[in-house]
Parts: sequence; C-alpha cells; structure tokens
Amino acid sequence: MAGIAVERRGAGGWEDLLGDDAARVGPGAEWRSQLYEIARAQFHAAADVLQLDAALRARLLEPRRALVVNFPVRMDDGEVRLFTGYRVQHTLTLGPTKGGIRYAPGVSLGECAALAMWMTLKCALLRLPFGGAKGGVRCDPNRLSPGELERVTRRYAAELIPIIGPDRDVPAPDMATGEREMAWFMDTYSQQIGHSVPEIVTGKPVVLGGTEGRAAATGLGVVYCLEAALDRIGERIEGKRVAVQGIGKVGAVAAHELHARGARVVAVGDVSGGVVDLAGLDVPALLRWLAVGEGPRFLRDWPGGVHVGRTGVLEVPCDVAIPAALERQIDAERAEHMDCRMIVEAANGPTTPEADAILAERNIAVVPDVLANAGGVTVSYYEWVQDQQKLPWDGAEVRRRLADQMGSALARVADAAEELGTDWRTAAQAVAVERIAEASRLRSIYP
Ligand code: NAD
Repeated sequence: MAGIAVERRGAGGWEDLLGDDAARVGPGAEWRSQLYEIARAQFHAAADVLQLDAALRARLLEPRRALVVNFPVRMDDGEVRLFTGYRVQHTLTLGPTKGGIRYAPGVSLGECAALAMWMTLKCALLRLPFGGAKGGVRCDPNRLSPGELERVTRRYAAELIPIIGPDRDVPAPDMATGEREMAWFMDTYSQQIGHSVPEIVTGKPVVLGGTEGRAAATGLGVVYCLEAALDRIGERIEGKRVAVQGIGKVGAVAAHELHARGARVVAVGDVSGGVVDLAGLDVPALLRWLAVGEGPRFLRDWPGGVHVGRTGVLEVPCDVAIPAALERQIDAERAEHMDCRMIVEAANGPTTPEADAILAERNIAVVPDVLANAGGVTVSYYEWVQDQQKLPWDGAEVRRRLADQMGSALARVADAAEELGTDWRTAAQAVAVERIAEASRLRSIYP
C-alpha cells in the first residue's frame, strides 16, 4: 500500500532498529553466567590454537538443548515446596550425553551449561563415546531430610524422562548426590518403563548394576594424574605436601590415597572451614570421624589441627594444592597468595582465566579439570558398558583400565602442550575440540 514502509529482506533488520537492546537479549543470553563465561574463554583459547572455523566454533560453544522444570514436593511438615531443576545436553555428535546431577543452592541454567561443555571436552579427551551433559536441582541438601531428598530425586527423575535414556542421556552423581540418589533415580525411571533399566544412570550401588570402583574413581583418577604428571618431571608423590579443599566424594578419596602413598596431607577443608597441620594430618582418623553419626559432620568441629577459613586451605604452603570442592575458588587474588608448585583440579572450573594468567606467570603448573577429574566419567563409562553387556568386571580390571586410560590422556595433553606451545588447559581442550570437530565435520550438519 502506498505510504506504509514495509520491512523487507536486505532492507535492514531488527538489530538496526533495536540497537543495544538487541545485544542485551541476543543469542546465547540464556546461558550467560560467570561459569559459562569462564568455559567460553577457555574454549576460545583452544579454538584459537586450532584455528577452528567460525561455524564449528558457534556449534560447539552453545549447548544443543536444555530442560528447565519447576516441580512441587511435599515436605515432612506437610507443606508443599516448589523446586527448580535443570538438565543441559551440550553435544550430541559423539554418542549419548553423560554428566552428573548436583544439588546445591546456586545451581542455574548457565552453571549447568558450562559444566555440560566441560563434560563434552572431558569425554572427548578420554575418547569415550559420549557428549557432555549436566543437571541439578536448586536446593540446600543439608537442610533436606532423607525422605525429602528421596521425593525431590524421584520427582526430578520423572520430569527428565522425556529427554533421558540409556542411549540418549545418562546421568551420574555430582555434588551432594551419590549411590543412594542414583538408586532412587534408576528405580523411578524403571517404574515408568516397566522393567529394570540399570544403564539409565551410573554411580549406582553395585547390587543394582553399579560397578566396582566407581565410588573411588574420580579421586583415584586425580591421584593417577598427579603421579603421571610428577613422573614426567622425575618426581614422586612420596613426601609431597598436599592441601585438599573439599572433603566429599572426590576430595576424601584423593586425600586418603595420597596419604596411603606417603604424601603429607597438610590441610583439608569443607564448607564449614579447614584444618591445617604442617606435620601432616591423620587422614584415616579424620575420615573415620567425618563418617560417624546420623547427619553430616563438619570440619569446624574436628578437635585437631589449626582451624582456617574454607578458602584458607588453598593458601597453606604445600607442593600440590587440590581444589576438590566447587568452581571459582582460585581467582586472581587467591592465585597471588597460593604457595604451591602445582595445582591438580579435582573440582570442575575451580580456576578463573585471570587466575590462570597469574599462575602461569608465577610458574605454578595446573593439571586442568577436564583431565584431572575425568576418572569419574571414565569409570561411569565402564559401568554403562557392563550394564549393556550384563557382564560385571572385577575391581582390579576397573583400576587397571582406569590407570591406562588416564595415563594415555595425560600423555596426549603433555605432548600437545609441547607441540602447540601452550599451557596444559589449552592443550587438553584443544585435543578434545579437535576430536569433536572432526566428528562434526564427518557427520555434517545433523545432529
Ligand atoms: P561432594 O558434595 O561429595 O563434596 C563437596 C565437598 O566440598 C564437601 O566437603 C563440601 O563440604 C565442600 N564444599 C562445598 N562448598 C564449599 C565451599 N564453598 N568452600 C569449601 N568447601 C566447600 O561433591 P563431590 O562429588 O566430591 O564433587 C566435588 C567437585 O568435584 C565438584 O566440583 C564436582 O563437580 C567435581 N567432580 C565430581 C565428580 C564425582 O564423581 N563426584 C566427578 C568429576 C568432578
């Protein structure tokens, strides 16, 4: 019609009209979080080294899909409370997606997106036939009774059914979840399907189709990595002073195994604070004490050692610092104050990019998370294989395979770092990205 301006292709788009507003709500805004920004920065560093083309960069950067659910749960006092849960699947190119479920007050879509991307890289680095995923429920697990945790877990599992499956997406434990939650999860899924489906989750109790060695796998993998990294510089674990932040499923095993190998564990910490003994803590006694009692016990009540704050643990003078609690614990300020020679990242995303730069300048080596904590998903893969084959392996077989697979991955990373002239984090991510990029190119656009 004469007189009315009509927007046409090529005649200018919405962005021109909306200006800054378009940028604020632009593509990818839903994933934005501090952790996702860290994952993005790390990914770009690896993609730059590989000179990855723009189209593949864009495809590998953002998750393929995500589900956000709000669900009601009846609490012990009869009240009904609403919980928010997430599941993010990052890459579908290399097989079903795989990744843990965490219960924590800060769980968000952006956090799950970052963690899912790191799972993708971890699986590719270890050459597992999986893409990455991550999920969780926003809650304070320490304030929920076992009955409430069971109802939260079962309802969350039921909400995820449309997007999970043994060949689609296979959850596992992460922060504040373990064998018990995986048993509830598997039981809820199996009820819906009409028969037992153990391969829907990993990290289950052995009697339900779990594998020997899964509970210790991540912590043990951290130790194998440290052993192999020290071996490359002609050193041994024996006599090394070690500080471990986080004494949960991963940190407790790492501390225990290091103590058993003759390391001096000089500090450990949990959410309540840390304890320090420069002569070496009695790790078995401390772990026995933590395990006693009905509810959770906290280190602030441990009678021995000198007590410090929860982040103080990482500043205790030592040879090897092991963050094994949660993300973003080593920021620029902490990196300036750390007094160690090496950091082995048992937690996911414990170091910010600013801290990475300072650590490099201070000559503190970092064994990155996608390598150091990959023992968990590797043994999860063994569990999934055993469930599919209905053929269990013994613990010795699991440990032998894990040591081999972690050792080869570490060698690939160290060799790539030398070849590319980068730090180990960028090298590890570059090795992983190269594998996913090749698979993506070969499969073309779908999935
Ligand atoms: P967990 O819940 O068993 O233990 C977490 C520990 O961290 C606890 O000791 C807790 O008290 C402590 N903690 C929590 N918040 C803290 C804070 N603000 N400051 C200091 N300490 C704090 O969890 P987990 O399974 O041992 O996982 C620990 C880390 O390892 C996470 O980053 C997780 O993503 C990563 N990870 C776990 C696995 C696995 O198999 N469980 C595998 C790979 C990576």
